[in-house]
Amino acid sequence: NINKRKLLVAGNWKMNGTRSLVKEFIKDFDTKFLSSMDVALCPPSILIAEFSEGRIPVGAQDVSACDNGAHTGDLSVSMLNDFECKYCIVGHSERRDDHGESSELVAEKAAKLIEAGITPIICCGEPLSVREAGKVNEYVEAQLKAVFDRIPVSQLGDAVIAYEPIWAIGTGVTASPQEAQDVHAFIRQFIASYDGKLADSMQILYGGSVKPDNAKELFGQADIDGGLIGGASLKAKDFNAICQAA
Ligand code: PGA
Repeated sequence: NINKRKLLVAGNWKMNGTRSLVKEFIKDFDTKFLSSMDVALCPPSILIAEFSEGRIPVGAQDVSACDNGAHTGDLSVSMLNDFECKYCIVGHSERRDDHGESSELVAEKAAKLIEAGITPIICCGEPLSVREAGKVNEYVEAQLKAVFDRIPVSQLGDAVIAYEPIWAIGTGVTASPQEAQDVHAFIRQFIASYDGKLADSMQILYGGSVKPDNAKELFGQADIDGGLIGGASLKAKDFNAICQAA
């Protein structure tokens, strides 16, 4: 591929999956991909331990910004480390919508993960109304600015950004490779305004209805360094095909 960065394909199972699906997935996932690219699978947290039998690097879908203590229902970075999570998604639009998470809280969670040595996959992306109003760049910039205001660039070397236009998530409507590339290029330029080297090295993933048949063209764009895969990550066969496209 034409990218100078290593590609990452990360699965996001959201609130789906069972213990038997994990077993099936581990059996059917083609481990050859692990040598040539970065791969991660983020199941619901109750299934994270089930992945310890396989070789697929595992991640969480969210984390608390607090330390261990009186926070019923939450999980801490130290718990994720205890289960050898390499990655954790933060700021997914479903967390922002379902749980009212602000960009400042997302930045706080990302900071906590970096401190704990876990790679945050920091999500951003606009709703359809913002795209129709022609304000995509401003919207995404405000979401990411909270992160760059909170965390010094010297600590962001291992962070990953995922651009996921909300209108493309789970809808079957993918952003066209050019639409996605335009926002990715903008994001890289935004990062470069803080640090040019970081802009060159940071993986920026695209998410939103990535499927085996559109992955290759998306991943072929200059500033798209892989994908965050929802629905299509639930079947190892589709996930393998998407890894193959990278
Ligand atoms: P989708 O979800 O691939 O099912 O559109 C992507 C995501 O929300 O991460």
